[in-house]
Amino acid sequence: MKVLFAASEAYPLIKTGGLADVAGALPAALRDLDIDARLIIPAYPQVENFIKITDEPIDLGDPLGAGPTRLLRAVGPDGKVPIFLVDCPTLYDREGGPYVNPKGEDWADNHLRFGLLCRAAATICTSGAIFGWQPDVFHGNDWQTGLTAAHLVQWGGRRTATVFTIHNLHYQGLFDPSVLPAVGLRQESFGLHGVEFHGMVSFLKAGLQYSDRLTTVSPTYAREIQGPAFGRGLDGLLAGRSRELKGVLNGVDYALWDPANDPAIPASYSAKNLAGKKKAKAALRETMGLAPDHDGPVIGIVSRMTEQKGLDLVLAAIPHCLTQGAQVCILGSGDSWLEDGFKFAQEINPGMIGVRIGYDENLAHLMVAGSDCFLVPSRFEPCGLTQLYALRYGTIPLVRRTGGLADTVEDAGTEGSGTGFLFDHATPDDVVWTVGRAVDYFNKPSIWKSLQQRAMAKDFSWQRAAEAYLATYNEIVW
Ligand code: ADP
Repeated sequence: MKVLFAASEAYPLIKTGGLADVAGALPAALRDLDIDARLIIPAYPQVENFIKITDEPIDLGDPLGAGPTRLLRAVGPDGKVPIFLVDCPTLYDREGGPYVNPKGEDWADNHLRFGLLCRAAATICTSGAIFGWQPDVFHGNDWQTGLTAAHLVQWGGRRTATVFTIHNLHYQGLFDPSVLPAVGLRQESFGLHGVEFHGMVSFLKAGLQYSDRLTTVSPTYAREIQGPAFGRGLDGLLAGRSRELKGVLNGVDYALWDPANDPAIPASYSAKNLAGKKKAKAALRETMGLAPDHDGPVIGIVSRMTEQKGLDLVLAAIPHCLTQGAQVCILGSGDSWLEDGFKFAQEINPGMIGVRIGYDENLAHLMVAGSDCFLVPSRFEPCGLTQLYALRYGTIPLVRRTGGLADTVEDAGTEGSGTGFLFDHATPDDVVWTVGRAVDYFNKPSIWKSLQQRAMAKDFSWQRAAEAYLATYNEIVW
């Protein structure tokens, strides 16, 4: 079985969030099942630091009239997964992130940046034999890869089977209909049963409409998005395809996220010997400017600062969390009003709140290891990865009962059970109540320790997810 896996980010080449963790780990896990999985991703300048070119580039001409385009062939640092890099300097060779410019604004030509990724993937699927490799399955991820399935249907003939995974339905890749010819779509695709969404072209809808199978990253989110509360206007389409839509929980790359072997923390530790976790807590307190000898738990958050993630609830809840004896530290960036709010909270609560605005992979590891609890109060959460990392590090997750959070954390309802604390309502009151429950448990060391040990014993390795994807591929490859 050959699988072309497309994504707009993949760790360690380039990362803004959980999609990168998935695209960095799942193709390798598929290869462990003897699937010839290969990754396709734009050749952003940052990527250069991590790859090794393996073969001659392939000239693709100028498929969208956006500039000369080549496919570079490479491998990542682990040398395991072959990578196709779509190299089009006019579109990708610039400073900034994959989706936004250095000022944080969406790139004005995102339809071309990701339209070209989709087009190059479709070309490999249809003429791959020319390059000596043709996939049986195209596996797209999120809106940036949605048009490939549309091209393959439009181009007709015997075609590669297609799977499309929704990592976040909130981001839809909506563009003015005038972009249709520029991204290589025919006018007739612009309709209710095509790529049209309320008068716009939706890259996401293209993926949902034209792919053979749909998946999302947790069973609960798969159910939630089929209703109006979480469906973002696509619930009708998704409910109509419910038999082809499956929730597959993401995994954790334990080679990167394991306190027994993590170069970013001061001392290794395990469920049997938690001594190293105390050192991590001391180091985290020092790094984040928290009072070193405070008695209560440290509650950590590593997150994009958006309302999706419920960080406005945290801001409102902070004074009450402190009254209950917790210290709070947060690493993230995003909406400026939230960034400013947390900076202000830190200013007026020195030693009790630590805030770091920005993106810092090493600090994220120290946060997961050095905190006692990890708070994830999302309004919606397709899967969520930080609570999975927290579990492995014996850091007790406090999460809202939604999406993948509901599927991965079990409430410690009675002493001696569960792996964390869940709450139902996206309100500051529920956050405060849950922090209060956690502080009560934290103050009973032997009960806390057994809770940590149950959390650390949970196994969310990628193998289970890779097997579920293989089963999906097998349904559509004849
Ligand atoms: P999402 O993809 O919606 O942002 P996930 O929980 O699925 O949320 O994944 C977030 C990933 O991004 C995790 O690996 C988390 O550690 C990482 N992350 C988020 N914010 C930061 C940050 N400011 N610095 C470092 N890593 C971060």
